[in-house]
Amino acid sequence: MNWGLGSKSVNNEDIIINLSKLRKIEELNEEFGYVVIEPGVTQNQLSEYLEKNNSNYIIDVTGSSKETSILGNALERGIAYNSQRVESIIRLEVMDKEGAIFSTGLNHFKDSAFELKNLYPYNIGPDLRGLFFQSNLGIVIGATVKLLKKHVNLHTIQLNFYHEIDMYQAMNIFKKLCEENIIQGIPHLPNRERKISSILPMLIREFKQKNILISDTEIKKTLDFFMPTDWSGMTYVWGDAKIVKRKIKLIKKELGKYCKIKIYRNSHFKLIDYALSIFPKNKFLIVLSSFKKIFGLCVGKPTNMALGSIVTQETFEVNNRNLHEVVDREVEGFHYLLPIAPLNDKYAKLLVSLTQETLDENGFRSAITLNIISSNILEAVISVKYESKEYERVMALFEVLTNTFERNGIYPYRLPRKSKRYQNHYSDLVETLKKTTI
Ligand SMILES: Cc1cc2nc3c(=O)[nH]c(=O)nc-3n(C[C@H](O)[C@H](O)[C@H](O)COP(=O)(O)OP(=O)(O)OC[C@H]3O[C@@H](n4cnc5c(N)ncnc54)[C@H](O)[C@@H]3O)c2cc1C
Repeated sequence: MNWGLGSKSVNNEDIIINLSKLRKIEELNEEFGYVVIEPGVTQNQLSEYLEKNNSNYIIDVTGSSKETSILGNALERGIAYNSQRVESIIRLEVMDKEGAIFSTGLNHFKDSAFELKNLYPYNIGPDLRGLFFQSNLGIVIGATVKLLKKHVNLHTIQLNFYHEIDMYQAMNIFKKLCEENIIQGIPHLPNRERKISSILPMLIREFKQKNILISDTEIKKTLDFFMPTDWSGMTYVWGDAKIVKRKIKLIKKELGKYCKIKIYRNSHFKLIDYALSIFPKNKFLIVLSSFKKIFGLCVGKPTNMALGSIVTQETFEVNNRNLHEVVDREVEGFHYLLPIAPLNDKYAKLLVSLTQETLDENGFRSAITLNIISSNILEAVISVKYESKEYERVMALFEVLTNTFERNGIYPYRLPRKSKRYQNHYSDLVETLKKTTI
């Protein structure tokens, strides 16, 4: 898949190895909270497996489809809702180019450290895990993935920033709140364009499935009622009730100057569902109830909701179950640019203004989400949807935008496989490593 970063397209000399049938979940360890999985295991498969086994743990999921590979995403250093996936990889089992299989970490101390091999990621000497992220130095055929303890007493915090400038200024507050572990998970801040493109298709489908006659404009207005401003946000807190209460008080005090804050808990959704059973056609209740899917991302429940932003509405509605199979056949294309920058107001403003100037000038809308991936790093997910005949123009535009970012000290952390950008001493070193048998 690798959607948004070139999908399955490769350079002439490349080959693709399809690992989707390696779908074994080899071990679930409830004592230490990890799983050992093969590369074809999907977000949905593992999420359902944990639920079926009444696990005390969850898998951290991304906003991409249910059918995406957990290891595929981790190996490209993907970002989930609670953490950067790379952080959850304890051990990799790899096949090298000669066909030999070896494991990173402590695996070779077979007897004495049998359990420890899935807990302690290092060995004596260098940490080899790093060699296999964003590289093709080996084929990962299995991995130990650390799970997250189920969130108790989860509170989802929805933010509507008063003005764009407030969102920038709030960056410094986010930094402080993340550093002090007040905010947990990765705050996601979509702009209006992103919010509409990722939520509206799902809502339109939902109303149609319920046979409620309502125009798309009316549905959009109802969504705007809950998220009326140019920038919104979502973040979370969970844990001991007293601590959560104190955290929420602090968040309201610190962020309240910049945005309107709404808190959602599980009990709210129970009430909403109850109200819906009495008023099944109430548009506000339907929209509110659908937020459950978005908020579920934080607690390890993947959804195909956001795929509505990359296919036509018709494809989205007709192919509810096998959507992931039809994405690459769509007539429309989409592309992502994923720059990162230091977390502060200056860089947040640069990321947004440079994107808007470049895309607006060329007649494209800027769908942007700013993700606070740590207390120091900000990621921007910039996405453009286009008609296939515009492919060359969009690629040229992304080239211009990447150059503009670079002049301002901003670089992408993930690139399409085909990209020849950054051919330098570092990539030469990686090539040399590749020629060495491990
Ligand atoms: C609507 C939408 C939302 C998205 N949201 C997110 C998001 O929240 N976070 C995010 O990170 N991404 C997101 N994405 C991007 C993308 O869909 C995801 O990164 C997805 O997880 C990729 O999974 P995959 O199964 O397609 O991985 P693949 O394409 O199979 O793998 C990615 C790359 O990793 C390497 N690789 C994979 N498996 C192995 C292996 N076994 N051994 C060695 N190398 C390997 C390959 O180079 C491959 O190109 C989103 C995309 C869309 C369209």
